[in-house]
Amino acid sequence: MTRVFNFSPGPATLPEPVLRQAAAEMLDWNGSGMSVMEMSHRGKEFMGIHAEAEDLLAELMGIPSGYQILFMQGGAIGENAIVPMNLIGATGRADYVLTGDWSKKSAKEAKTYGTVNVAATGEASKFTAIPKQSEWKLDPGASYVHICSNETIGGVQFHWTPDTGKVPLVADMSSDILSRPLDVSKYGLIYAGAQKNIGPSGLTIVVVRKDLLGHALPVTPSAFNYQIQGEADSMYNTPPTYAIYIAGLVLKHVKALGGMPAMAEHNARKAKILYDFLDGSSFFRSPISKEDRSLMNVTFWLKDDKLDDPFVKGALQHGISGIKGHRSVGGMRASIYNAMSVEGVHALVKYMQDFERQHG
Ligand SMILES: *Cc1c(COP(=O)(O)O)cnc(C)c1O
Repeated sequence: MTRVFNFSPGPATLPEPVLRQAAAEMLDWNGSGMSVMEMSHRGKEFMGIHAEAEDLLAELMGIPSGYQILFMQGGAIGENAIVPMNLIGATGRADYVLTGDWSKKSAKEAKTYGTVNVAATGEASKFTAIPKQSEWKLDPGASYVHICSNETIGGVQFHWTPDTGKVPLVADMSSDILSRPLDVSKYGLIYAGAQKNIGPSGLTIVVVRKDLLGHALPVTPSAFNYQIQGEADSMYNTPPTYAIYIAGLVLKHVKALGGMPAMAEHNARKAKILYDFLDGSSFFRSPISKEDRSLMNVTFWLKDDKLDDPFVKGALQHGISGIKGHRSVGGMRASIYNAMSVEGVHALVKYMQDFERQHG
């Protein structure tokens, strides 16, 4: 068996011990005589798996009381509609900060449900920098302010928490949730698809301050109504049981490694190796402003884009997969989530050095 270094942006690499445990438990989970996939979501076995995953998430993220954790479906793109359906009804208006493809998509979708104000945009820099808070034009009457904490496609990341006063801050954290310590109390709502840093696709995490509930628009489907899902402990409809089980194993693994401080150190170390190399190279370069560089998705360009295809093909021959950039920005992107090893990043840099020597 050969496992590649998988730099894919998502679904993404998972910790090998988790995959091994899942394989060992595939036919018979814990003496139950069945796979987790085959269990009733209302049986005591699965209820235990579900509760444990929720408790681990609360512990790792330091989620204060007064917040509801929801395990939902529909991904972050689903949440682009579900968030405004549930929250924009408070005042009918919301602020969106545009920092790249994902936040632009969020703002566009929200327009169906209320008035969307673009409070700031990184457009002038072609989304290679996050607009400074001093440039934001916030509406004090907005129901919430929406940001994307890490733009998975462009490669910019918030390294500071915006101050939105009394207006709740909402963040799409799909690609950097659980990558570093976080003060959840600064947010009204956090959402994330699981498939970048938590587990398989199909599970969406929502953490919402309970006092923000109660404003769902009448069109909101019951399965996407945070209040209804919260009252049903995320079991109003059948939850994505297997994805929740794998997420629970990942969370346990992350806790054993030392939780968020350990992840932050591990991720900063990997990103530094890559960015230091890019900064010292005259062949590769990072397009992103230094203070806004993502520690999760490192975007970079080759000197000559005619070499993009040979670079990607050669990488595969070296066991390096998933580094082609998103078609909307071009170039390359190495996604280095929690489960990517330092060894994987060293292998990528070694390959880049060799490629530069050959083609530079
Ligand atoms: C991957 C991603 C999405 C899209 O998630 P889906 O699961 O496809 O809905 C949205 N936002 C961000 C920041 C992402 O990284």
